[in-house]
Amino acid sequence: MIKKVVIVGGGTAGWMTAAALSRHLPKACQVHLIESDQIATVGVGEATIPAIRTFNAGLGIDEQEFMRETNATFKLGIRFQNWGELGEDYYHAFGFYGFPINDVSFHQYWMKMQQNSGAAPIHEYNMPYMASVFDKFEHKQFDNDSIASRYFYAFQFDAALYAQYLRKWSEAKGVTRIEGKVTEVSQHPDTGFIESVTLESGMRIEGDLFIDCSGFRALLMNQTLGIGYQDWSHWLPVNRAWAVSTAYENKDTPIPPYTRARALTGGWQWRIPLQNRTGDGNVFSEQFISEDQALDQLLENIEGKPMNEPRLLRFTTGKRDKIWHKNCVAIGLSAGFLEPLESTSIALIQGAILLLIRNFPNEDFDSATEHEFNRRMNIKYEESRNFLILHYHLTRRNDTDFWNYCRTMAIPDELKHRMDVFRHRGHTAHKNSDLFIEHNWLQVLFGQGMKPESYDPRVDVVEPQEVERLLSQMNKDVAQAAHAMPSHLETLAQYCAGDLISNRLSK
Ligand SMILES: Cc1cc2nc3c(=O)[nH]c(=O)nc-3n(C[C@H](O)[C@H](O)[C@H](O)COP(=O)(O)OP(=O)(O)OC[C@H]3O[C@@H](n4cnc5c(N)ncnc54)[C@H](O)[C@@H]3O)c2cc1C
Repeated sequence: MIKKVVIVGGGTAGWMTAAALSRHLPKACQVHLIESDQIATVGVGEATIPAIRTFNAGLGIDEQEFMRETNATFKLGIRFQNWGELGEDYYHAFGFYGFPINDVSFHQYWMKMQQNSGAAPIHEYNMPYMASVFDKFEHKQFDNDSIASRYFYAFQFDAALYAQYLRKWSEAKGVTRIEGKVTEVSQHPDTGFIESVTLESGMRIEGDLFIDCSGFRALLMNQTLGIGYQDWSHWLPVNRAWAVSTAYENKDTPIPPYTRARALTGGWQWRIPLQNRTGDGNVFSEQFISEDQALDQLLENIEGKPMNEPRLLRFTTGKRDKIWHKNCVAIGLSAGFLEPLESTSIALIQGAILLLIRNFPNEDFDSATEHEFNRRMNIKYEESRNFLILHYHLTRRNDTDFWNYCRTMAIPDELKHRMDVFRHRGHTAHKNSDLFIEHNWLQVLFGQGMKPESYDPRVDVVEPQEVERLLSQMNKDVAQAAHAMPSHLETLAQYCAGDLISNRLSK
């Protein structure tokens, strides 16, 4: 058995890995985590997708405590502005359109109704969409049988506080934290396996399995083992971000249950509401807009006072050729970075950790296991990448060179196939392994204006009057349930927030 795991890096990836290993393999190995106060973490991963709840629940974390400690808010989805066309607005909400009828997806009936007698806009059948529009949120367990509970939620939180929270949690479970900068890595002369890392202080730390959570540097995977990087910037051309924290203007400034992604001229701007501030950033392609112009745009578009100097982050979208090589696994930014539009990074970290635990190696480091891990991680990265490319490619904007490039660029065959399948008859061709499944794809496809040419013929089996009756009922149920929900603020105040939120509610 592996006896000693050494994690290099204490950002979100490092501490999530340490926490999960100490929870799921507590007796199998000792976990050591090395981090350096001299090297800052990226610290801007603030928006998540619902998968994070499975991760936290797996650790046995108390959700209310975690939300209080990280200034977290609930997230029902992402609001996309100006993506399909300037002035357009839609949400990718974490839940379904209506109910299926006779095992055929709701949207197929809706498309037929649209062609014939007409139907309400499709988002009016989607509970988390309507709740987001009204800034509402109710803390409920998912219930597939009730339209009012057929949704998922995620969190928006302070990433630095999340890492600190997991650090406390992991240290209590026996993880050893070592402060220091790794300056040297030793490999076995014959096998090339990593044997130890040495810190600036001279301290040498040996291990059996090394996890590279050193961020964009990829200290072990790239700098030591020489594993290269697949550059995907011809599909995902953004390569810079300015990030800043912003104070709420006053206590009436809304705290919505969603992240906002507003498309600009050479990229897009995020706004992530936390309990005490927002996180804002302009993600852009430096080939189309300069760093100075992007900073001006960011500052023009924020809605309160900046709380710090904006920080510039530079990156190349893509993925490392291998994520597991010899006795080293890269997790986090060292493994790749797609870009933050759909909050996929923390989800990919989580995916890698769970896959590693399921395929945890013996001392012999079986090559089939390594291969299987890499194969499955490739699928996760490529599917997430294709979903992201869809947002850029499926635009009608022609107002800047950036959008002209995105609209006309060549796209991966797999994505082209999915778009063709949808265009033909409204099917999404998703796979069960996807991070994003049918309802996620549908919302972006419909949201950005794609219209299928026909619908699934099984729809015609149900009498049109019956379809009309069922759709009308679903529409009413969604409207009623969304109106009856408490506001996001009320739920936060009651569930997990301190004085900041309670003060907002007291008039
Ligand atoms: C602009 C931007 C926006 C993002 N937004 C989101 C989002 O909304 N949602 C989301 O899920 N993700 C987002 N991400 C991604 C997210 O920030 C990262 O996936 C996450 O923070 C994990 O980073 P990391 O731990 O891999 O690396 P880092 O945070 O960079 O941590 C690296 C660690 O390695 C240590 N280290 C490095 N070199 C050495 C050395 N020589 N010796 C010792 N220690 C060393 C550092 O001290 C640090 O502790 C965003 C990323 C960017 C760039």
